[in-house]
Amino acid sequence: MKNILILLASLILIFSTIHKAPALEGDPITMTILYDNYIFSEGPKTDWGFSCIIKGTEKTILFDTGTKSDILFHNINKLNVNPKDVELVAISHIHGDHTGGLFAFLNENNKVTVYLPASFPDEFVSRVEKAGAKVVPVDKPVEICKGVSLTGEMGVQIKEQSLILNTSKGLVVITGCAHPGIVDIVKRAKEVVDKKIYLVCGGFHLMNKSEGEVKEIIREFKNLGVMKVGASHCTGDRAIELFKEAYKENFVQMGVGKVIRISD
Ligand SMILES: [Zn+2]
Ligand SMILES: [Zn+2]
Repeated sequence: MKNILILLASLILIFSTIHKAPALEGDPITMTILYDNYIFSEGPKTDWGFSCIIKGTEKTILFDTGTKSDILFHNINKLNVNPKDVELVAISHIHGDHTGGLFAFLNENNKVTVYLPASFPDEFVSRVEKAGAKVVPVDKPVEICKGVSLTGEMGVQIKEQSLILNTSKGLVVITGCAHPGIVDIVKRAKEVVDKKIYLVCGGFHLMNKSEGEVKEIIREFKNLGVMKVGASHCTGDRAIELFKEAYKENFVQMGVGKVIRISD
């Protein structure tokens, strides 16, 4: 009888350990940049465009897919990413430097739900469905898995959505090109999830702005309480420099190959 009790106790112990192991809570959330026109580490290739993968959240998310599928897959391999791990895909906007690798990606893994801005043309939507993936058109802000939301479509001419991660350190806002305006995107993120903003990163699209306009945007970032900034992709070299000068150690160097550990 005593032996049976000991055996039972050990079994319970083993089962509770097994049960704890795969839980994602407590695992770090990481964002790996798969495509960017700036380089961070040796091995992956740079090209105009943006893509990143977010792991450690309830579901693994691919945000944007860069321009060229061969470069996307070269980088996916160099950065030891398994495309089959991806469960959700979110596309920021229709431009080819964000959608270019999508169909090649779906060839590798179509067991995904693809969140597209609702304004995407029907032909694009049916192509994604024909590839075997599920499409969710996004109009308003929506939570796509625990703690991860999309801003919903913003902007007038070029409609775009951005990703919001609700982490223990605060919100992380990830943008594709930020055509609707980076400050408006940050404000929208704060409306969607009322929390302090830890990091804003991705393309800010400020290459045609004057130095004064960029400095005004930086002032607005500080007023909104943005703690860290990772400006990259289409932000523009001079605007990136200005963000670096203003944010100093709180500027996050981006570029393909960069892995940002967001929370523990
Ligand atoms: Zn664009
Ligand atoms: Zn872009």
